[in-house]
Amino acid sequence: MSTQETKPIRTDEIRRMLKKKRAKMKRLLSHCVHCSLCAESCFLYMAHDKDPQYMPSYKVLQSLGKLYRKRGKVDRPFLEHIKGIVWRNCVLCRRCYCPIGIDIPSMITFARTICRSQGVYPRVDESVSESWL
Ligand code: SF4
Ligand code: SF4
Repeated sequence: MSTQETKPIRTDEIRRMLKKKRAKMKRLLSHCVHCSLCAESCFLYMAHDKDPQYMPSYKVLQSLGKLYRKRGKVDRPFLEHIKGIVWRNCVLCRRCYCPIGIDIPSMITFARTICRSQGVYPRVDESVSESWL
């Protein structure tokens, strides 16, 4: 276990980051009408037999959406869970099209930034392990 993995999560820092982009991100999160159109343009969603876990909107709501709902009061297992969503389930290819202009990749990027700020990100050996396939 690395020293990063034993460090406490700095929720004050997460809260500060969330607050900085709050207006823009909240607006995007609240504008989604769950039409699923973005899903059709996500190759990961299509390649996984339309598994809802790979829907772009689902990935954002389950990562950034939850971070906002919890107001940044999260623990390491929660961030580890998000890590799986924003790295394994999205490659930031920017192919997802939203007719009302919701920028999914930028939101997933922001969720990654928050995870990374707390030392939560995929390691090289982890990215080739079974759990990431
Ligand atoms: S296309 Fe846009 S509005 Fe429709 S589900 Fe995706 S993000 Fe939400
Ligand atoms: S950026 Fe992520 S959610 Fe959008 S199409 Fe690519 S893999 Fe799918």
